[in-house]
Amino acid sequence: MLDFNPSNYWLETVQMPAGTPGALPESVDVAVVGAGFTGLSAARTLAKRGAKVAVFETNTIGWGASSRNGGMVLTGMKLGVQTLADRYGMDATKRMYAASLASIDLVEHIVGEEKIGCNFSRCGHLEVACKQSHFATYARSVEVIAREFNHQLRIVPRNELRDEIGSGIYYGGIVDEVSAGLNPARYLEGLARAALNAGARIYENARVEHIDGASRDGSSGFQLLTSRGGLFANDVFIATSGYTSTATPALRKKIIPIGSFIIATERLPEALAHELSPRNRMIYDSKHYLYYYRLTPDNRMLFGGRAAFFPETSNTIRRSAEILRRGMISVYPQLRDTKVEHAWGGTLDFCFDTMPHAGRMDGMYYAVGYAGHGVAMATYLGTRIGEQIGDGSDDNPFANVPFPGAPLGLYNGRPWFLPFAGAYYKVLDWIS
Ligand SMILES: Cc1cc2nc3c(=O)[nH]c(=O)nc-3n(C[C@H](O)[C@H](O)[C@H](O)COP(=O)(O)OP(=O)(O)OC[C@H]3O[C@@H](n4cnc5c(N)ncnc54)[C@H](O)[C@@H]3O)c2cc1C
Repeated sequence: MLDFNPSNYWLETVQMPAGTPGALPESVDVAVVGAGFTGLSAARTLAKRGAKVAVFETNTIGWGASSRNGGMVLTGMKLGVQTLADRYGMDATKRMYAASLASIDLVEHIVGEEKIGCNFSRCGHLEVACKQSHFATYARSVEVIAREFNHQLRIVPRNELRDEIGSGIYYGGIVDEVSAGLNPARYLEGLARAALNAGARIYENARVEHIDGASRDGSSGFQLLTSRGGLFANDVFIATSGYTSTATPALRKKIIPIGSFIIATERLPEALAHELSPRNRMIYDSKHYLYYYRLTPDNRMLFGGRAAFFPETSNTIRRSAEILRRGMISVYPQLRDTKVEHAWGGTLDFCFDTMPHAGRMDGMYYAVGYAGHGVAMATYLGTRIGEQIGDGSDDNPFANVPFPGAPLGLYNGRPWFLPFAGAYYKVLDWIS
């Protein structure tokens, strides 16, 4: 039954704080562009160190992917460890993997320190194999992760999967007990409140339109033109993810904005919720065109996927809701008669190498490219870059990862090739 409200379920559980009213100051130490996990983590870090920080957000606080996601706080990155090791070597991969584990500890630490009521829970994640051939690869990656990264995962054979998931369609799984789940909108609200309490200003409805190199009182920096006025900043941090705009054209050309969509059902009876996900895991499957799903704290099934590749519009949301509902029933036939009450979409930021990137471009700092693994990593890289701007510390394992552009340079920021990429990955899912 599709009787949905095209709105984000998470936003019904939270009241976002209001941004900073009034005119812009003439100058700040740091201007942050984008009020999501990345920008607000940096703003919180910098403001706590005494920096004068202004965050600019085209829309309202948390408008982007940070309030629209599945709330899965996951270990690892989008790419598997073998691919990472082949590309960057084992030592660099170890540092990146350690960062992914540290990023979850950091989220937990911030939630505790700022007393954010966002249902953070170390409930673990479950990856499920859609084919026997996918399951066959699990043993090797579990072995590599244990040996090289000293991190233990558990393989769940098909005949034991019922303890983990109330679905019979998968060939086995891997459990990682370290991953967590949270309510992303409430986490975002807590981060924004913490940044404001520490003295950061957050300007809503303030789209950054131009950024130019400039100098003031003998120090070099940047002049920003925003839809609420202009100001000078010694440093600029771009934290715009899949919504990166023409204000930073060089960065925009390196990011592919890809749509991801979610439906949420009505509240399920306790017994049914327990049957579907007995251990309340964050679950995703092994396909390229994957499904990810979980229970919400009030026992709705939240079911997401890259149903349409293009970013969210009322059209892609409606189409995706139908596709996702069929997907959900193929996993959980028990939900055939359950009402879908919410559907929404958001935009992911993929780089051409499917890696996170954080560093400097045109003199400005940036952190982007989370590829659907951004809840923890955006918090982590936002915090690291905040520290780097604040005191020059350089503890960023992604700093030296080469940042490729489009093959042959055939890309201006408008992803004309998405339908082809979508078709390619569908074929890959059939044959691999
Ligand atoms: C549907 C969906 C499900 C997801 N599920 C998960 C998940 O379960 N687990 C996980 O780890 N990750 C998930 N992700 C990814 C995760 O949400 C993102 O990686 C993360 O939120 C990125 O945070 P951010 O702060 O970098 O960007 P965003 O939260 O997208 O914020 C960027 C902000 O920049 C603003 N902006 C852009 N240009 C300008 C400008 N010129 N001036 C001012 N403001 C500007 C935008 O308005 C936007 O609000 C999901 C994403 C989506 C869309």
